[in-house]
Amino acid sequence: MHDLMRRLYPLCRSLTGDGVRQTLAALRELIPLELHEVPTGTPVLDWTVPMEWNVRDAYVKAPSGERVVDFRESNLHVVGYSVPVRERLSLAELREHLHSLPERPDWIPYRTSYWERSWGFCLRHDRLVELADGMYDVRIDSSLEPGHLTYGELELPGETEDEVLISTHVCHPSLANDNRAGIAVATFLARRLAREPCRRFTYRFLFVPGTIGPITWLARNQERVPRIRHGLVLALLGDPGSPTYKRSRRGDAEVDRAAAHVLRRSGADGEIVGFSPYGYDERQYCSPGFDLPVGRLTRSPGGEFAEYHTSADDLELVRPELLAHSLTTAAAIVEILEGNSTYLNQSPKGEPQLGRRGLYGSLGGAAGGRERELALLWVLNLSDGGHSLLDVAERADLPFETVRDAADALLEHGLLAERGV
Ligand code: ZN
Repeated sequence: MHDLMRRLYPLCRSLTGDGVRQTLAALRELIPLELHEVPTGTPVLDWTVPMEWNVRDAYVKAPSGERVVDFRESNLHVVGYSVPVRERLSLAELREHLHSLPERPDWIPYRTSYWERSWGFCLRHDRLVELADGMYDVRIDSSLEPGHLTYGELELPGETEDEVLISTHVCHPSLANDNRAGIAVATFLARRLAREPCRRFTYRFLFVPGTIGPITWLARNQERVPRIRHGLVLALLGDPGSPTYKRSRRGDAEVDRAAAHVLRRSGADGEIVGFSPYGYDERQYCSPGFDLPVGRLTRSPGGEFAEYHTSADDLELVRPELLAHSLTTAAAIVEILEGNSTYLNQSPKGEPQLGRRGLYGSLGGAAGGRERELALLWVLNLSDGGHSLLDVAERADLPFETVRDAADALLEHGLLAERGV
């Protein structure tokens, strides 16, 4: 995942444009993404697909002739969606278009102006204060023209048409945690699920620009929306903060309970936060007209790590072991969604004799043995058609996996049956 992030580093991603296409092309070497191109001007819900933005070069040249701000050094130097510019300006005029962080003088801020025609440069405050009076040549060789919005979609069919939606944003340029980390984790989760011999649910992965991406997908897929049973927005999954899960608008959806179970048991000080209509693309999936059971997994929530939206959000901040932990966490949530079912005890009067069936005491004395036996008893006791295996795991305070294994053993011996639908 870290290698993938390194590869995606130089690409100048934005809401639209070739940086997104090149990013998705790189992901296609790992997962069979389908690419969609939606023309500028297409109405999508209350929005319209914007102009396509591409930038080839941009710089500010000092009176000395030196490029004091240079897009070729970092794509963060150009305000995203800057209109083309070729001007000669005094320092005072230029400064109205310069953004820096006085409190972090050696970091470049990340800024965009998607919905208002404008232009600007972002630079280290250290460099800004050194700029001498005089005339500056300013050049932004960009295009902002009718084109397309590009997004990637991967469908992994399952035994049912019920879907699990996994969505991540692809619109940020050379930042690491936000959101090459989310892209990397989603890609490797897709790879892992693609290798499963059978999946209960159909999985739909979306690699979309923030806000306008999910709005575009939702607008084009309204007939598919009712099939979404569970969903996760994956973002900012590589910083040293502990995992944070944000509940869906519903607050008690199965994915909310699955994530809470995983975080509670992971021992990693995971945090669960309630829904709010602010944040990443869960805002769209959880808008009231859809109200989908979609939560969000991040590490430090957006904006709550110092490096957020600056050049310091780099590959030093994001460590491979943190990415791996995030992937494990996301996969554990998905495993619960896949494995959670409700059963009926087929021998509910008195306890069935487990020893006779080799289910009891077979691991007598082994450390995991007692937990396994407890799980068998809990599953039998609560499988009255009204409790799912996740309910059992929560009530018994056992790992879901142990409960799932117990249910499989009981199913094998005919002691459980699927609850009729
Ligand atoms: Zn961001």
